[in-house]
Formats: sequence, C-alpha cells, structure tokens
Amino acid sequence: MEPSVPSVLNDVHSQLNPTRVQGVERPGCVEDVARLVKEAAKRGESISVGGRRHAMGGQQFGEGTLHVDTGGLIGVRAFDDCHGLLTIGAGEVWPEVIAASHRAQERIRPGQPARWGIRQKPTGADDISIGGCISANIHGRGLLMRPFGDDIENLTRVDARGETAP
Ligand SMILES: Cc1cc2nc3c(=O)[nH]c(=O)nc-3n(C[C@H](O)[C@H](O)[C@H](O)COP(=O)(O)OP(=O)(O)OC[C@H]3O[C@@H](n4cnc5c(N)ncnc54)[C@H](O)[C@@H]3O)c2cc1C
Repeated sequence: MEPSVPSVLNDVHSQLNPTRVQGVERPGCVEDVARLVKEAAKRGESISVGGRRHAMGGQQFGEGTLHVDTGGLIGVRAFDDCHGLLTIGAGEVWPEVIAASHRAQERIRPGQPARWGIRQKPTGADDISIGGCISANIHGRGLLMRPFGDDIENLTRVDARGETAP
C-alpha cells in the first residue's frame, strides 16, 4: 500500500463535518485491516472507519486519526442457495449485492425467476456500504421486520488489538 498523506474528509450530504485525518488507508482484505490496526495500536494512534460517508453526524471521521476507507473490501464472495445466504465484503454497496445475488441464481437455475431477494435496505440511497449498514443497524420500510442485525448470520470482526474473530 502507498504511504498515506494528511487530508480533509467530509460526509457526502451535509458537508458539515470537515475533518483532517493524518492519512487514509484502503485495505483490500481482512488481513490488511488487522495489520493496520495492530501497527496503529503499536504507535499509540487512533483509527477511524468510513464506508461510503453518507452518515451526517461526522461519526466516520476523527481529527488526526488514521482513516480506514473500506472501499477496497468489496465483493460478494459466496452464495448459499439452500439458505439464501451471501458472504459480502464490508465495503460492498447495495446495487452490487443485489446484482451479484441475481447473477448467482441465474447460474444455478438459468431462465427461472430468482427465489431469493433482500429483505430490507436503506430506502433513500443505494451507494451505502454493508459495513455502514451493520454499524447503524439500518432498517427499511418493512415495519414488522427487525432491523438489519436480524439479517446477519455471521460477522468477521477485527478488534482494537488487531485480532480477527469470526
Ligand atoms: C439519503 C439517505 C437515506 C438513508 N436512508 C436510511 C434508511 O432508510 N434507513 C436507515 O436505517 N438508514 C438510512 N440512512 C442512514 C444510513 O444508512 C447510515 O448512515 C449508514 O451508516 C451509512 O453507511 P455508509 O456506508 O455511508 O457509512 P459511513 O457514513 O461511511 O459510516 C457510518 C458509520 O459506520 C461506521 N462504519 C462504516 N463501515 C464500517 C465497518 N466496516 N466497520 C465498522 N464500522 C464501520 C463508521 O465508522 C460510522 O460510524 C440514510 C442515509 C442517507 C444519507
């Protein structure tokens, strides 16, 4: 990865949160995230994490932090047709999640209607990351459904020491 340089980040919508971070890193896999966290912890530095930067409260940024941009953690990596489960990178966005699910089902049952679909997503925007949705425990318009946490079966988590746990 290229060495990161200080830059000013802001959210997409309100633009009320200009924040100078000491650098931006775009890891491409969970191991890269773990390494970044471990190295920052060793240096006594804080990190901030951002997906598509739609949240308007500035919670994805921190002055002087090393900013981890999840835009490289993309891909719908697996599809379990028996249980309707997708394995998705934290930085992936809804249009690609939906398209990948349709592609996988078309490969399995060519020409037939898809039997699996998503239950809910944020309603006012599409370019929102799965990690951002888990973090905010988003909800859609299904008022009788529990929020997004109810749709998640498993999470790969990197903790503050840089340890990875399923
Ligand atoms: C136009 C619009 C419409 C919306 N509609 C809805 C709606 O219908 N329902 C609803 O519930 N919400 C809605 N939201 C809110 C939106 O879903 C959340 O703000 C969501 O967190 C934004 O995701 P993001 O990828 O832009 O994340 P960011 O704004 O980049 O980050 C949001 C938070 O998530 C954290 N985060 C992001 N990725 C990770 C990660 N991989 N690991 C750990 N933490 C992470 C960040 O640190 C930050 O605290 C809407 C927002 C907008 C702007």
